[in-house]
Amino acid sequence: MSRLVVTTSWDDGGKEDLRLSELLAEYGIRGTFYIPKTHQKAEPLREEEILAVAEKHEIGAHTLDHVDLTGIPAEQAQAEIAGSKAYLEDILGKSVRMFCYPYGRYNARTKEIVASCGFAGARTLRYTKLGTVTDPYEFGVTLHASNSSPRTTLRIWRAYGTSLRSLLDWENRAKALFQLALAEGGVWHLWGHSWEINRAHEWDKLERVLDCVSKRDGVRYATNSEAVDICLAETGQVPRSP
Ligand SMILES: [Zn+2]
Repeated sequence: MSRLVVTTSWDDGGKEDLRLSELLAEYGIRGTFYIPKTHQKAEPLREEEILAVAEKHEIGAHTLDHVDLTGIPAEQAQAEIAGSKAYLEDILGKSVRMFCYPYGRYNARTKEIVASCGFAGARTLRYTKLGTVTDPYEFGVTLHASNSSPRTTLRIWRAYGTSLRSLLDWENRAKALFQLALAEGGVWHLWGHSWEINRAHEWDKLERVLDCVSKRDGVRYATNSEAVDICLAETGQVPRSP
């Protein structure tokens, strides 16, 4: 794929999502916010806060209770997945097209349930560099907006072949991979958590990254579902669900 698509995704909800959604919009960057109804460690967004984020970005489902879908019976997984779609659609008054597997954990059964519930795609935590979408239910990411563990960094280095130095800090990593994306095309997909940016005091760092990738000619700035649609259209596949 020669076209360059820039997309971002943000997991779990939380108060800082509002600040994040404003900041992204300021730079013309679009995002998909994956919001569960409840979360053991985070305070979920209130309905009016979800609606405020939805004015500028896409809202995606992330189960009702942020559960590992591979560790529960099929009926329960079905209820968590279908329930999260209905929960958000009720608030938003429109279709919710994207799903995100909590903890990045899924299997063939999980994918089947997500597809049968009418989602157009699902985001994973597979690091696919700048890869395009071949399976919409295994939509990968490029990098995390946080410094990864040394083990993950090493794994990314082996898979990506970029300089190890550029991987040590996520700001450098984001910029290096964006330069590569400008040359080669593909999907540049930043994911993270607003609470993580806040806890690490990295709002300025995020802003520098957004400034670097924003407002470029010929780049498509897309939500996750738009990125999936663009990729599928390029490979001649028909997007699922309206
Ligand atoms: Zn999550």
